[in-house]
Amino acid sequence: VFSNVVQAPEDPILGVTVAYNKDTSPLKLNLGVGAYRTEEGKPLVLNVVRKAEQHLVNDSSRVKEYLPIVGLADFNKLSAKLILGDDSPAIRENRVTTVQCLSGTGSLRVGGEFLARHYHERTIYLPKPTWGNHIKVFNLAGLTVKNYSYYDPSTRGLNFQGLLEDLGSAPPGAIILLHACAHNPTGVDPTPQQWEQIRHLMRSRSLLPFFDSAYQGFASGSLDQDAQPVRMFVADGGECLIAQSYAKNMGLYGERVGALSIVCKASDVASRVESQLKLVIRPMYSNPPIHGASIVATILKDSNLYQEWTVELKAMADRIITMRQKLFDALREKGTPGDWSHIIKQIGMFTFTGLNSEQVAFMTKEYHIYMTSDGRISMAGLSSRTVPHLADAIHSAVTR
Ligand code: PMP
Repeated sequence: VFSNVVQAPEDPILGVTVAYNKDTSPLKLNLGVGAYRTEEGKPLVLNVVRKAEQHLVNDSSRVKEYLPIVGLADFNKLSAKLILGDDSPAIRENRVTTVQCLSGTGSLRVGGEFLARHYHERTIYLPKPTWGNHIKVFNLAGLTVKNYSYYDPSTRGLNFQGLLEDLGSAPPGAIILLHACAHNPTGVDPTPQQWEQIRHLMRSRSLLPFFDSAYQGFASGSLDQDAQPVRMFVADGGECLIAQSYAKNMGLYGERVGALSIVCKASDVASRVESQLKLVIRPMYSNPPIHGASIVATILKDSNLYQEWTVELKAMADRIITMRQKLFDALREKGTPGDWSHIIKQIGMFTFTGLNSEQVAFMTKEYHIYMTSDGRISMAGLSSRTVPHLADAIHSAVTR
C-alpha cells in the first residue's frame, strides 16, 4: 500500500550531517548544523548540567509521573523570568502565560497553532532569509507565510530601510517573526536604536511580535543583554509571543527543552489563553518530558549553579568570537580576495560567508567541508586546528 510513496529530499540543514557521516576522509569537517563543539571538536555537556543531573539522581523523592499539559511549573516561571527579567511588571501582574514545549521548534509550532485558531490575522512575516524550518513550522500550523526584507548581500549587513518599508506595508495586525538575537543564518542583528524604531513602527501599526529566542547568551555572552529587544517590546505594555530554546545556551539539544510565553494585556486574558494552549498541546503530544526541564529548573533556581552557568555560557560565546578572529586573520594572511570583515562583525553561532552554492559544493568535494548551500558556516564547529583547512578551502573556492 505504500509503494507509491516517493522519496523525500533530505532536510537542508540536518541533511548536511547525513552527507558528512558518509564521508570517510580524515579531513572532514561539519560546519552545517549549529551545534557547539570544543577545541577538540567534541560535543560539550556543561559541568553545571552534570551537577544538576547529579542532584536529580540523588533525590530519591523524584518520580516519573506525567507532567501537567503545560509542563513543569517551576521551569515555566523561571523561563519567563530569564527572558523578561526578574523585575518584569508583566510577570508581576500575571499577564504572562508560559508553557513548556519541545525545545524552540515545538514552542514555535504551539504558538503558531494557537495563533491560527485564535488570532484574527493569519499571515506571519519572516525575515528574508531565515532559519529554513520556520517556513514549514508556520505553514503546517495553519498560517500564511510571507517575507520581509532583512539582509543586504551588498553590505553583508541589515537592509534596515527595506525592513521598515515592508513592515510599514504589512496588513495591520500581521504577525512578525523576530529573531531575538544572533539572527540565523545571517549573524546580523539590528542595533538597539534600530530595535526601538522597529518597535515603534510595529506598535503603531498593531503588528504582533513573535520572538524566536534560540540563542540567549550566545550573541553578547550576557543573558540580560541578549534579552533586551524582547524586554523593550514587553516594557511598552503590548502583547507578544516568545519561543525560548535551551538547546544552545545550556547545550541541551537532544533533551528538547523550551518554552512558549504569551504576554497579554491582563491576567484574565492570560489564563484564558493558557486554557486554549492546553487544547493545542493535549492532542499533539499530551504533555512534555520531565528530565530536561528539571535540569533547567535546578540550575535557574540555585544562585550558585546559575552563576556557574553564566561563566560556562560566556566561555562558549568567547570561543566562537576567537574562531571568528582566527578565520579572519587566516584569510587576510593568505591575501584571499574580498572584504572578510563580516566574519568578525556578525554575531552568534554562524557566519553568513557570502560563498555561493557552487563554491560550497567545491569546498565539500575538494576539502570535505560540509555546510549549508547558502554559505552559512557554524563557527561553533570550528577549532584552532581546523581554521587553516577552512581558510585554504575558502581561498581556493574564491580564486578558482
Ligand atoms: N530558531 C532558530 C532561529 C534556530 O536556529 C533554532 C535551532 N537551530 C531553533 C529555532 C530551534 O531549535 P531547537 O528546536 O533545537 O530548540
